[in-house]
Amino acid sequence: MNTKSLPGASFHQMWRELAPVGRDATTGGYRRYAWSGPDADCRAWFKDQALARGLSYETDRNGNQWAWLGDPAQGDAVVTGSHLDSVPDGGAFDGPLGVVSAFAALDELRRRGASPTRPLAVSNFGDEEGARFGVACVGSRLTAGRLTREQAHALRDADGILLPQAMEAAGQDPDAIGPDPERLARIGAFVELHVEQGRALDLSGDAVGLASAIWPHGRWRFDFAGEANHAGTTRLADRRDPMPTYAETVLAARREAELLGALATFGKVSVEPNGVNAIPSLVRGWLDSRAADQATLDTVVAAVERAARDRAARDGVDLTVVRESFTPVVEFEHALRDELNRLLGGRIPILGTGAGHDAGILSAAVPTAMLFVRNPTGVSHSPAESAAEDDCLAGVIALADVLEGLACR
Ligand SMILES: [Zn+2]
Repeated sequence: MNTKSLPGASFHQMWRELAPVGRDATTGGYRRYAWSGPDADCRAWFKDQALARGLSYETDRNGNQWAWLGDPAQGDAVVTGSHLDSVPDGGAFDGPLGVVSAFAALDELRRRGASPTRPLAVSNFGDEEGARFGVACVGSRLTAGRLTREQAHALRDADGILLPQAMEAAGQDPDAIGPDPERLARIGAFVELHVEQGRALDLSGDAVGLASAIWPHGRWRFDFAGEANHAGTTRLADRRDPMPTYAETVLAARREAELLGALATFGKVSVEPNGVNAIPSLVRGWLDSRAADQATLDTVVAAVERAARDRAARDGVDLTVVRESFTPVVEFEHALRDELNRLLGGRIPILGTGAGHDAGILSAAVPTAMLFVRNPTGVSHSPAESAAEDDCLAGVIALADVLEGLACR
């Protein structure tokens, strides 16, 4: 592919402009947290892109950004976009690839001389990763009425700053936030392009894929309560040590996930008193589990809990399990997916994903689809996240084909 011509040129220019924003010099990862300085720079960049293309720009009541080609009041709009914020030391592609590709796809439509019959928009949803305030997809959740203003107003970051304070400092009115059904009612289709967070496309040998569903997923907190004591003077037989119980539970999670083709991860743990020569009084571990369907997920989590209880009984440890969050399966609309598949030649792989997205939140209110771009290592939420240049441009072309097919004569 000749990257000197569109869409390569516009894609590369945007990618270059965005690349240094919020990048940590030591890790090479991005720290673009919601309503922070780097986030403001990303948002200013978005607005510049909109205005440079003669698109009408607006920020909605929840801080999501929109760049419109055509009049949104006409309704039945086709919207494409993603997010620009990041996890701590995130990669360059998760989020920005979808926003940059959206603008590049509009440029490609212009190059083709396609004339839209439906309003088109590029969107940047605020606070998708939840890295700062702990709740993912805040912008789209608020818009869809899946997070109330009261809940949002109570969110606090690690420095004790409340979400409304952070929004206000960034020039966004926190009292205006809330559901936005009128806006959603004007959208006929939302398409989010995203770097794949896995290796299905690498394994199938395709540059671009189409999403079938977002797996159901949840988080469970396991509290293993034992008895603190001296590591040097307490006989093994006299201990109520929750650490071996926890360790056995981690191994059970791995075993059950492997058996059932699911995912189960203990990625966070806290230990009290956390002393090198002390038997812990409490080990608290968080299980993140996901599976292609609800029944499998239920089976995995139940098996992990059973293994934990068996071992806890042997160790004299008390176990409490609390489900902290849960998101049911999201099936993307079949009619829109079939239409995209047709527009892309009918031979595009269709895959599920274990990661959450704004598209998943919006799918309850709007016909929604997702395109994935191949990630050769599958690594995501890390500076090592990557996608080949040609694959990114194939994504832009696919997105332009979709927008042309859905919204142009
Ligand atoms: Zn993302």
